[in-house]
Amino acid sequence: MSYNHVNIMDVSFLNIEREKLYQEIIYPSLEKQGKQFFVTANPEIVMLANEEPSYKAIVKQADYVLPDGAGIVIGSKILGDPVVERIPGFEVMTHLIGYAEENALSCYFLGAHQEVIESFVARIKTLHPNLKIAGHHNGFFDLDDSSIVDHVKKSKPDLVFVALGSPRQEQWITKYYDQFDKGLFMGVGGSFDVVAGKVKRAPESWIKLNLEWLYRLLQQPFRWKRILKVFQFMIHVIIKKY
Ligand code: UDP
Repeated sequence: MSYNHVNIMDVSFLNIEREKLYQEIIYPSLEKQGKQFFVTANPEIVMLANEEPSYKAIVKQADYVLPDGAGIVIGSKILGDPVVERIPGFEVMTHLIGYAEENALSCYFLGAHQEVIESFVARIKTLHPNLKIAGHHNGFFDLDDSSIVDHVKKSKPDLVFVALGSPRQEQWITKYYDQFDKGLFMGVGGSFDVVAGKVKRAPESWIKLNLEWLYRLLQQPFRWKRILKVFQFMIHVIIKKY
C-alpha cells in the first residue's frame, strides 16, 4: 500500500494517523517477522541531514520517517502540506513495548549511560512484568565494536530500540541492519532517560502548546545550541515558502 508523504527540506515524512501506522504498517510486519527501520525526525535531525550528506543518505535508508517534534508539524503547515499528526518516538516506543508484552514479542534496549539503562530496564520490568526483554546494553561503545551487534543478534529480538542520540543511533542501525533477519529498528534519542526518571518529559499542557522544546531547554540549558537548530529550521522553511 502506498501512503502520503510530506517533503520537508528533502526529508520525506510519512503522513499518517498514529493508529493507522500501528494497524497497517507496524503490527503486520511484526506478525510476519519482517524488518523495518524507522527514523523519528525532529527539526534538529532535518537540519543535520541537510548539513551532512552522509547522514542524509542514512535517513533515506529508513523505511519510514515519522514526524517527531512540534517544529515538524508547524513547518509542514507553513509549507502548505500539513502532517495529520505528530508521532513522537517516545510515544511509539512506549506503545510498542505494551504491544510486545501482549503479543509475546521480545525487545532489546541499546543505549544511554549504564545507570540509566539499568533503571530503565528495572522500570520497564515493573510496568510490563510479562515483557520478554531480549537484552540491554549501555550506549557508550565504539560503533565499529562488533561484539555489541553480536550480542543483539544472538538474542533474536523482535524490536530493537536504539537510544544513542542522532546521528549515532541511525549510524549504528544502518551499519548492521543487513545482519538481521527480522526486527523493528528505531532510534529513540533520550527516551530511556525519560523512563528512567533522569530527564522529565514536558507536561501534557506544554506539549499541547508546542512548548516541549522550551521545557527541555529549561531542564537542560546546555542544549541551547540544539534549540538554535529548531529556529534555523523554521527560518529555512519560511524562506522556502516565500
Ligand atoms: N548516548 C549514548 N551514547 C553516546 C551518546 C549519547 O548512549 O555516545 C545517549 C545519551 O546518554 C542519551 C541518548 O543517547 O540517553 C540521547 O541523547 P540526547 O538527549 O542527546 O538525544 P535526543 O533525544 O536529543 O536525540
